[in-house]
Amino acid sequence: MSGFSQLRRVDFSRQEFYTIALKSGNIMKFETTFNNYFGKELAKTDEPEEKLKELLARLEGRTLELNSARKKMSAGFGQVLQALAEAYPTLDLNDPNLTDTPNRMARALLEVCSGLGAVNSDAITTTFPAEDYNDVILLKNIDFTSLCSHHFFPFSGVAHVGYLPDPKIGSKVLGLSKLARIVDIHSQRPQLQERLCQDVMKALKEELRPAGVMVVVEAAHGCLNCRGAKKINASMMTSSVYGKFKEDIKLREEFLALIRA
Ligand SMILES: [Zn+2]
Repeated sequence: MSGFSQLRRVDFSRQEFYTIALKSGNIMKFETTFNNYFGKELAKTDEPEEKLKELLARLEGRTLELNSARKKMSAGFGQVLQALAEAYPTLDLNDPNLTDTPNRMARALLEVCSGLGAVNSDAITTTFPAEDYNDVILLKNIDFTSLCSHHFFPFSGVAHVGYLPDPKIGSKVLGLSKLARIVDIHSQRPQLQERLCQDVMKALKEELRPAGVMVVVEAAHGCLNCRGAKKINASMMTSSVYGKFKEDIKLREEFLALIRA
């Protein structure tokens, strides 16, 4: 935080802004809000000074929030380790590998939940009219890692996301990287695989008004692999379909053939 206050005392310089904001914003570098500022807005170096100051203030506020949350979480994880040492006294809490673990756990959890700070429009920033294109558009094997809401264990795998634009109903199309970003936003949070599938489907349905959407997710779940049933090779598959993909079995088959190809 000293970095931010320091900036207010010196003459405002663009270079300093970048340096100080990046340094002080270290904790939130994974956040969409932060990346939007640095990836897009600040890339425009002719941004007026007033705008930069406003962005800096927002970054400062958000960094304070994240730091406060991180400290609370770190204290909580410290208690978790202490309780674990009560259950298993052979656990050596003085092991140097464990001393900073509560803090690392806090940072990691903030990072894997960073999708909570984003909305669909953060990903879908630009769309184009579908013009005369009305065939399936598919991005397959979008890898993701998410956090199972039930156990807070990671689950990870791939999502296959496809949609069917129809210019007659005013559908939009978008760049493929945006499809991947939509999967990121909805996976980087406590989630259920079934809901992840539906969230991605709904995002495309609402933002692009296509004639159909189909999403297939295959994932391995830490809570199944490492504990409980301990099935290390089991993977779960879910799908969510809307519109023409729901009505037309041939379209669904085309989608499945494309993801297997
Ligand atoms: Zn689970």
